Amino acid sequence: MKYLAGYPPALLAQVKQQLQSESGLAGMLRGRYPSAHDIRTDRSLYDYANGLKSEFMRNAEPLSKVAFDSKLHVIRNALGTHTTVQRVQGSKLKTKREIRVASLFKEVPEEWLRMIVVHELAHMKQRDHDKAFYALCTHMEPAYHQFEFDLRLYLTHLDAGGKRLWSTEGLCAP
Ligand SMILES: [Zn+2]
Repeated sequence: MKYLAGYPPALLAQVKQQLQSESGLAGMLRGRYPSAHDIRTDRSLYDYANGLKSEFMRNAEPLSKVAFDSKLHVIRNALGTHTTVQRVQGSKLKTKREIRVASLFKEVPEEWLRMIVVHELAHMKQRDHDKAFYALCTHMEPAYHQFEFDLRLYLTHLDAGGKRLWSTEGLCAP
């Protein structure tokens, strides 16, 4: 259960038990999060991230790019990335800020997308995963830790060979 490293053993034992039955963990997650969001394109992801930024971090520098990335490996701490590139343009120093989110987040509940975007936005102010960083995350999303844990439950479910729970594949769109 590599996605849940660091959580209390009693909690992990409970998760292990839920994983025994196909309906256990999956049913719990589906019950808690009935539907996925409908943000499919980089353009709509940019608007989504920018909306959160202007609500909570108005003074931070603007985002240059926000995109889904299918090459981001879904491993601990690589669900999203943030980069700041400084370039000299004429006599000015230009800062480009980019956020990338693993493509996996195209087919998850909106709460989890918000969690990862909030995480990457928080890095615009706090570099390390320290107390101040998580304080900023929970300021932007009070249920941040719950959403992260539930996402990790889902990754554990997928890792155990479970089905994708919010896949749009096979749906007939008009
Ligand atoms: Zn981080």
